[in-house]
Amino acid sequence: MKIAVVGGGISGLSIAYNLALRKAGEIHVYEKNWITYGSSTRSGSRFRVHFWSEENSRFAMESIKRLEKLAKKMDWNPIINRTGYLWLLSSEQEIEIFKKSNEMWRKLGVGGVLLTTEEVRERYPYINVDGLAGAFFGPQDGSFHHDYVCFGYYSLAKSLGVVFHQKTEVKDIVVSGGKVEGIKVGDEGLEKFDVVVLATGAWTNIIIEKTGIKLPVEPLKKEVCLTEPCRYFIKPLVIDLASSAYVTQTLKGEILGSIDYPLPQGLGDLETELGFVKAWARAVAKRIPILRNCRIMRTWAGYYMMSIDNSHIMGRDPEWPEGLYVAYGYSGHGFMMAPLVGELLAENILTGRVDELMKPFLPTRFKEDKLIPEKLVIG
Ligand SMILES: Cc1cc2nc3c(=O)[nH]c(=O)nc-3n(C[C@H](O)[C@H](O)[C@H](O)COP(=O)(O)OP(=O)(O)OC[C@H]3O[C@@H](n4cnc5c(N)ncnc54)[C@H](O)[C@@H]3O)c2cc1C
Repeated sequence: MKIAVVGGGISGLSIAYNLALRKAGEIHVYEKNWITYGSSTRSGSRFRVHFWSEENSRFAMESIKRLEKLAKKMDWNPIINRTGYLWLLSSEQEIEIFKKSNEMWRKLGVGGVLLTTEEVRERYPYINVDGLAGAFFGPQDGSFHHDYVCFGYYSLAKSLGVVFHQKTEVKDIVVSGGKVEGIKVGDEGLEKFDVVVLATGAWTNIIIEKTGIKLPVEPLKKEVCLTEPCRYFIKPLVIDLASSAYVTQTLKGEILGSIDYPLPQGLGDLETELGFVKAWARAVAKRIPILRNCRIMRTWAGYYMMSIDNSHIMGRDPEWPEGLYVAYGYSGHGFMMAPLVGELLAENILTGRVDELMKPFLPTRFKEDKLIPEKLVIG
């Protein structure tokens, strides 16, 4: 079989690696810029197993297990660090939601701890608890290094014979008789393929809509701030639900974080905005006053690809041209899902089997009205 994977981000790399591992045939990855150009190396590099929907929680749990296993095979150390996530809650209503969700998480074996304001003060003396009603701590969550994970997958895939075409844009998917025939690359003619997998992140609508397919997914620009390094003292990712700001510290000591800030919708430039920086800095200085004089060194922007239910989309609709598959719409939590997406999609392409964990995320859920509403989105 000849398979084209379009997009050289974490999804495309994981899919290509998993296909090669299963000896799928001739696998080519096409990337219009360079490997990791997209959101994959513009992320916050965090993972969690705590989602409000059971489907996303289960998927993330299994995905992280895959990444931990793979770490042993990679030439690059992905630096997986279970630092925990600390959710700061400002109302009884938020506490109730986390209590209820914790019952579901406990059943899955990943229960966390609800903390009183006093306990937050004792455990995290750097946090200003004014206005807080309590907190939830999820010890199973943590961080990785997104560059090292991507290049780990890249080198494994390459060693298994995957062919990479960087600086090569796929302009169109050619369909004939209800089947994928191949792709058009640059100004050249048809490159023949049996299967085309779109792992094109925020740019997916541009290419998939040429085939007449439209799914409810839109890109949304997001930004991140990084400070100068300072003494390591913030271990978990701290998310202040009231302000929507999140903050954590890299192992190098930089303070990293973001905030939900109104940025232009859709694809545009990837410049960062001073207004965003100010909003984040204000929220962080209020919650962690010791950071007031910490200097911001760098900002960057990328895209969340938001689906209508904030859950990712993988696989195919039987009404689509035969041989066409997608993996996108991750809604801000895609890096952590990609290890399992790659594995299950590779199996699906090669055997037709739809794993129980994959089933809820099929693109058919939109027309069947079987959405997975995920309300716990960060940033
Ligand atoms: C600020 C920010 C913080 C985030 N934090 C986290 C986090 O902490 N944890 C987490 O799990 N997720 C996080 N995410 C989300 C995560 O980064 C994405 O969900 C994930 O990287 C998506 O990977 P991808 O491979 O699908 O897409 P991308 O990494 O965007 O890759 C798509 C690639 O396709 C290429 N491409 C597009 N069109 C074509 C074409 N026609 N031909 C050839 N190539 C093409 C692009 O150049 C690009 O390289 C964050 C995202 C942002 C923006």
